Amino acid sequence: MTTVAARVAPPRSASARVSRVIDETRHAKSIVFEVPADRTHDFTYRPGQFLTLRIPSDTAGSVARCYSLASCPVSDDELMVTVKRTANGYGSNWLCDNVSEGDIVDLLPPSGVFTPTSADEDLLLWGAGSGITPLFSILKSTLATGSGQVALVYANNDADSIIFDEQLRVLAARHPNRLVVIHWLESVRERPTADQLARLAEPFADRHSYICGPAGFMATVRDAMASLGVPRSRVHAEVFASLRGDPFAQRASEPHAPEPAAESDALATTTAQVDTDGDTHTIDWPRSQNLVEAMLAHGVDVPFSCREGQCGTCACVVVDGDVTMTDTGVLDEDDLEAGYVLACQARPNGDFARIRF
Ligand SMILES: Cc1cc2nc3c(=O)[nH]c(=O)nc-3n(C[C@H](O)[C@H](O)[C@H](O)COP(=O)(O)OP(=O)(O)OC[C@H]3O[C@@H](n4cnc5c(N)ncnc54)[C@H](O)[C@@H]3O)c2cc1C
Repeated sequence: MTTVAARVAPPRSASARVSRVIDETRHAKSIVFEVPADRTHDFTYRPGQFLTLRIPSDTAGSVARCYSLASCPVSDDELMVTVKRTANGYGSNWLCDNVSEGDIVDLLPPSGVFTPTSADEDLLLWGAGSGITPLFSILKSTLATGSGQVALVYANNDADSIIFDEQLRVLAARHPNRLVVIHWLESVRERPTADQLARLAEPFADRHSYICGPAGFMATVRDAMASLGVPRSRVHAEVFASLRGDPFAQRASEPHAPEPAAESDALATTTAQVDTDGDTHTIDWPRSQNLVEAMLAHGVDVPFSCREGQCGTCACVVVDGDVTMTDTGVLDEDDLEAGYVLACQARPNGDFARIRF
């Protein structure tokens, strides 16, 4: 089937009022936003997705940073992100030092693919430090709307660094047969090894794993799951990284989708079949454009956010054909081996490519 979606340009930023700022720990604050009444549709989200915030900067005008939604799309009315200070980091410290109730912050709508397929699925969640944020949304949503069982392994330096400690206790007490929370404190047990994590994971190894935390922690979890023989396709990871570019500026100067390629480019195109959201779209993909640009030019809805390979929103699989990436960005060796590419970085080679989102 060949279809062309009607939607052309992704929704642009919205100015949201901060309704509350919550001190979570000594180094982390939650910022709660009211969604503008005329933008509620654009700001619906799935558990595990993130917002992109515009942060003022004297030198750059503004910078953009992504923050996972810690709120639950079902049980929480407002959007909440939780920001942990990064040592010498600009954006996280600016937000923690400057944002207060009543302020207006520019946001890009929710984005991201770090989200379970069903709330009835049993899950094994792995978090460290601020990596708890998307997992907290996922676990609250699963408990609120589905029948899935959830095991959370949550690593922190010490007890005072545990974000959402009290709320996790309350949820575990309310759902004793569905939620298990296992804390790992480095102040008590040192950094976990892959063997130790594999022993913790063994009873839950048949579940899909969702990992979020510092690179070292995520690598150790991957090693643990590999040692248990868990296929890579059952291990999902969200990488926290700072954006280099400014997607707000790109969108302000690009309110509409790029034009389809000029006639003279016609010879240098690849025919691409793109599977997304259950539909197959056949498009001409100019070799001078990346896949995000080509899909937008043809009016096909495509998941993307940063356009610089840093957020992973546009990750997709090359099922057939060959593409070259300008920058492999957040993809690791396992991702590349599994055939993942980033649509914002991918340009085609050859006559035909089949891509699956
Ligand atoms: C999808 C996604 C979701 C995220 N969710 C969250 C979340 O829920 N909570 C959260 O707290 N974070 C989250 N992040 C991370 C967040 O976007 C930022 O990366 C983080 O807050 C650090 O930003 P910063 O501006 O404070 O640090 P930056 O200024 O970007 O600095 C980052 C690091 O680089 C170093 N650095 C900076 N400039 C230089 C330089 N010139 N030379 C050498 N080193 C330098 C800094 O010392 C620091 O260690 C997420 C990221 C992504 C992509």
